[in-house]
Amino acid sequence: MLAASASLLNISVVILDVGAQAPAKQVLAPTAPHRTHVDGSFSNPEKIKELAAKVDVLTVEIEHVNVDVLEEVQSTHNVEVHPAPSTIRIIQDKFHQKEHLQSHALPVAPFLPVEPTIQGITDAATILGLPLMLKSKTLAYDGRGNFVLRDLSNLQNALDVLSNRPLYAEKLVPFVKEIAVMVVRTTSGHTYSYPVVETVHKDNICHLVFAPFRSRDAELSQRAHKIAEAAVKSLSGAGIFGVEMFLLGDGQILVNEIAPRPHNSGHYTIEACETSQYENHLRAILSFPIGSTALKVPSAAMLNLLGASNDLSELIDFAKYALSVPGASVHLYGKAECRKGRKMGHITVTADSDAEISARLRPLLQRLPGTST
Ligand code: ATP
Ligand code: MG
Ligand code: MG
Repeated sequence: MLAASASLLNISVVILDVGAQAPAKQVLAPTAPHRTHVDGSFSNPEKIKELAAKVDVLTVEIEHVNVDVLEEVQSTHNVEVHPAPSTIRIIQDKFHQKEHLQSHALPVAPFLPVEPTIQGITDAATILGLPLMLKSKTLAYDGRGNFVLRDLSNLQNALDVLSNRPLYAEKLVPFVKEIAVMVVRTTSGHTYSYPVVETVHKDNICHLVFAPFRSRDAELSQRAHKIAEAAVKSLSGAGIFGVEMFLLGDGQILVNEIAPRPHNSGHYTIEACETSQYENHLRAILSFPIGSTALKVPSAAMLNLLGASNDLSELIDFAKYALSVPGASVHLYGKAECRKGRKMGHITVTADSDAEISARLRPLLQRLPGTST
């Protein structure tokens, strides 16, 4: 999606990913012999250096990258890296990220470092109480790395599932809604917020996003924007950031985590906002004027297409059906392998009202592969 936005601005993009048919490489052909895509892993130091040698500005779409090498190429290859490697370093360790947010007076759930032992987790449970959210500090995504401990009899199971990963614990937050705000930050540190959205997770993975989030509390969206922008201002470097938050019953907002990149809760911006999260990411890292972040439709929703099995054809059939739904836009990512729970695409639905969004979503949700009706 970033490559698609770049192509409209004649920005030539070199992609580092495994395989010649990696999704982004399907979108953009190399524009010159010295700009051919790189085949390799985004954690391979040699491959990152090979990429850095071909570009003026380097950006990432995942935080689990080798930050040491990004710092090195910034100084030795004269490449601008966005967001700043120091930002990625803070974010990629979720415990470090929480400490950073807390030290900037941003509201977060109570948390503690935890030794990955029976005794360590028991001690954390004594302090924070049960149920408890155990989280891997690193390499976490789509909830892979999270374990809800409800009962101490389940301790061994938690350790088995999290198998020696570096851990910390968070109090389980009794949120009434999960909300998120995309924030774009310029090279000079100015921030602009997209609308507050509601995110609905199923099995720890984002399932649906509704934009805008409606609340009876007229000041809620202002508070959420303030918190999200303060969180992003506390970091360095330019680009788009996704700020995930919990809304509590008393109106309090807590920051869950920040994604230093285009984010699933911002996919709706492609069809529903004046400027998509991808285009504004490019504009920010290239020091171009930032585009309006306002909605251009009254209401929008995004439905993730997760693999229900290894069979991509059932998602393709579903996507074909979605083409018959008014206001629906289909995005299939071109990933070579379909696996259960893997994000394979998404559908954005726009409409003139929330009621019309519900009516348009209903038949989609009924037919979504993997959904038992
Ligand atoms: P991703 O990066 O894909 O968003 P992740 O693996 O980093 O996911 P988190 O965002 O930490 O995981 O958690 C995934 C989901 O688990 C959250 O969106 C929320 O639904 C739930 N969750 C996480 N932390 C807590 C908490 N402290 N209390 C209650 N629920 C939580
Ligand atoms: Mg995360
Ligand atoms: Mg998350």
